Amino acid sequence: MESREINEIIQSNIFLTAKWPIILINQLHISIMLYKKERFYLIKKIEKLVGMGLLNIEGGGISIRVAPNRILVTPTGSAFRLWEVKPGDILVTDERGKIIERGKYFAVAEFPIALHIFNKFKICNSVFHTHGPFSLAYASIRRKIPKSTHHVEVLGEIPCLRSPNETKIKDKYLKNPYKVSMPEAVHRPEVYIIFKRLIKEFDRYFNGRGEELKKHGLAFIVEKHGLFTFAKNLEEAIENAARVEAAARTQLFANLINLKNSK
Ligand SMILES: [Zn+2]
Repeated sequence: MESREINEIIQSNIFLTAKWPIILINQLHISIMLYKKERFYLIKKIEKLVGMGLLNIEGGGISIRVAPNRILVTPTGSAFRLWEVKPGDILVTDERGKIIERGKYFAVAEFPIALHIFNKFKICNSVFHTHGPFSLAYASIRRKIPKSTHHVEVLGEIPCLRSPNETKIKDKYLKNPYKVSMPEAVHRPEVYIIFKRLIKEFDRYFNGRGEELKKHGLAFIVEKHGLFTFAKNLEEAIENAARVEAAARTQLFANLINLKNSK
């Protein structure tokens, strides 16, 4: 619907009562929202993931490619708002991160990595990020995820990407800010420069692994940060995140048994 038509509808209804136009505007916004069905699909998934503990208050984000050159991404701060994401909070961008539609928030901070993955692997349509506690334990000591279960073996190597010293980089930038060219959907240059460095590290591990995506999703953890999985669709990316978390948990418990047996 053209904005001219929307204005005409609003104008023709404005006589009703003072609050009617506001209600009407809200309803119109919902009805003309791009990729409405996909937004509701994403929100349903978020609710399930929170219930299963795969998304928590510490962080995380989801990006899905819904059409060629069109991506939906969860907004920044979703975790801290306890994952209460509304359809209008979800952003629509192109594959360069240019905003097509957004509500009051920018995209989740890790979005530059997702954009890089979408551009690098055209077969990939979903990037899932979580601060799952078990994979985070491995990320905290920069160890790759061990293949402790059959379920995780199919994913191939799950490396731990070395992360730059985030605090140091942020402080340095904030003391001496400079112009940073970054995707329109992200808004903090001091955070963007950190993820830009991580992208180089990502390429070091994933160059030449695109063929694997046809058969299964891929995963990695980032030092002291969290887990990322990416796949042909969101279901696969989520399933892989669950597999990685289970493998990390299993190895941790197995280590405890070994520790007990060695005494
Ligand atoms: Zn994160």
